[in-house]
Amino acid sequence: MADIETITSLAKRRGFAFQSSDIYGGLGSVWDYGPLGVELVNNVKRAWWRSVVYERDDMAGLDAGILMNRLVWRYSGHEATFSDPMVDCRECQSRLRADKLESDKCPVCGSVNLTEPRKFNLMFRTTVGPVDDGSGLAYLRPETAQGIFVNFKNVLDSTNRKLPFGIAQIGKAFRNEITPGNFIFRTREFEQMEIEFFVKPPHILKAGEMNDEEWHDKWIEDRFNWYVGLGMRAENLRKYEQPKAELAHYAKRTVDLQYRFFPDRDEEDKQFDELEGIANRTAFDTMSHSKKLVRVNGKAPEDAGADEYILVDPETGAKVVARIKADGKKSKDEEEPRHNPDSTADMTYFDHESNQHVFPYVIEPSAGVARSVLAFLMDAYHEEMVKDDKRVVLKLHPDLAPIKVAVLPLAKNKEGIVSLAKAIKTRLQRTGSMRAVYDDTAAIGKLYRRQDEVGTPFCLTVDHLSLEDNQVTVRDRDTMEQERVGIADIETTIAKKLASR
Ligand code: ATP
Repeated sequence: MADIETITSLAKRRGFAFQSSDIYGGLGSVWDYGPLGVELVNNVKRAWWRSVVYERDDMAGLDAGILMNRLVWRYSGHEATFSDPMVDCRECQSRLRADKLESDKCPVCGSVNLTEPRKFNLMFRTTVGPVDDGSGLAYLRPETAQGIFVNFKNVLDSTNRKLPFGIAQIGKAFRNEITPGNFIFRTREFEQMEIEFFVKPPHILKAGEMNDEEWHDKWIEDRFNWYVGLGMRAENLRKYEQPKAELAHYAKRTVDLQYRFFPDRDEEDKQFDELEGIANRTAFDTMSHSKKLVRVNGKAPEDAGADEYILVDPETGAKVVARIKADGKKSKDEEEPRHNPDSTADMTYFDHESNQHVFPYVIEPSAGVARSVLAFLMDAYHEEMVKDDKRVVLKLHPDLAPIKVAVLPLAKNKEGIVSLAKAIKTRLQRTGSMRAVYDDTAAIGKLYRRQDEVGTPFCLTVDHLSLEDNQVTVRDRDTMEQERVGIADIETTIAKKLASR
């Protein structure tokens, strides 16, 4: 594996990622994906979508807008609580995240003259409409999850789903991070791949049905295995149980999948950081966005009973215990206080078997595209000596490799060889299932090394003999072994080779 620094330099050199607005001095922690980066990013998203949507029967896809009604963020709790503690260094004026400080000293200048921590809300603000008097205040979404929650009823009603089922979404999110950095690990604009998986709340479960905690465990396993299935080494991944004090306001339990993003740190425990968070959000979100009446009984959250839920008061951020009416029936507005006076939707799910309206519980596996890309790159990186020469190879899983096959002519000034190589490239591209490229800009040895360095699983070399025997040489990225194969069925040969890795 490689450290982040090695990957950053490879990424810039070979066109995976560039600093945003570079020619004007850059913009803090925003990166642009280059020709190879965009392929890798798309492949990671495609592999995720295939695994969590297409290969399951209990998942629907969604693509919600980045801009949403401000009230979404009030009732989700983000306006009140989506903040990080920030301290300022009085000596060098650095702004630092208090919970990430390793000591009481400023990591920039070493001073201990730091301010007390203050809360800093991470949401970017913008204005919708022509009037800038505050009435059009909106946020760039800091997570994609809320787009799913506010569409829960739309998806439910338009697809006739039954619990348990999930909604998956990939999209941009924005956070005004206090201390971003480490290449694409923490940026201010990034993409998330999120699932909200809706399950029956405990009180309507029938014998033998999986409860929220079992679904949570299953998702932790499934998501761990997804990374390993795409070639990530299990020893570089770990499950981290968030301690109660660290839990977000909505979570009953959260397990992070962490990757060894910092292999050069001495202490093994500090080498790992979050790749994906998998939270049990209980019924927090469906309840908070629902107009349905809930009784706020003023108990402390610690005293919550089995059929009660912890809510965050949207005005104060305080945690309160709320309960669905015991008989499960709708109450009249005048009988009980409305928890959410702004929502027009009843977010309950009608369970025919128990004849009850219930708020589903939610398991949320939330992954970052960039952190996955970074982890896959770090894990795939290999250096080896071949005849006194350093060979750099990205041993990326073929599904992730930006280029699947490169077609290389042995001589670029021989018309017959060049046109045959170009024709083969076109045929492979036409299959629609693989990104193929043609390259004749260097000698063959150099062309092989270039493809190795960006993870291309196979190179096809067209030579003089190819014109006579209708065969080309296939070179394997990892073993460097070469084999002659027929041109006639080259599409199936390459497709089979890609699938068998
Ligand atoms: P962290 O503790 O690292 O700030 P988080 O716990 O706030 O992350 P979540 O809100 O759980 O992150 O977001 C889910 C996923 O989104 C993370 O696991 C990560 O992969 C990704 N993510 C979150 N913030 C960023 C960021 N600033 N840059 C890149 N990816 C991010």
